[in-house]
Amino acid sequence: MDCIFCKIANEEIPSKIAYEDDKVLAFYDISPKAPTHILIIPKTHISSALEIDSNNADIVAHIFVVAAQIAAKENIARDGYRIITNIGKNGGQTVSHLHFHIVGGETLGDFA
Ligand code: 5GP
Ligand code: ZN
Repeated sequence: MDCIFCKIANEEIPSKIAYEDDKVLAFYDISPKAPTHILIIPKTHISSALEIDSNNADIVAHIFVVAAQIAAKENIARDGYRIITNIGKNGGQTVSHLHFHIVGGETLGDFA
């Protein structure tokens, strides 16, 4: 499958890694939208949050555990940050491999 985030997970494409274990990889976004901008992905291919079901939902819980650890390590936890996952065309998803943006390090614009 020609998926850029699968290639990053396999280390076929290099990235600056923030965290890694057997299930997930976290790496710095190539085009950061805030002072801290990290992406967390499952190492197995899941197209988007629309593909989450009772068989694979455990990975989402694990990603949120990892996200909290990364936020603490990156020193954005105390002042607050945002976790975002875009879904599909209208959601602004440009890479069809589930990923959660962790953005922080400044006051983020109002959204919801
Ligand atoms: P989306 O718009 O799909 O929610 O987010 C995709 C994100 O992946 C974007 O923020 C984009 O900058 C980032 N991105 C795309 N290609 C690469 C890459 O090759 N390396 C890294 N580190 N980030 C990437
Ligand atoms: Zn993939």
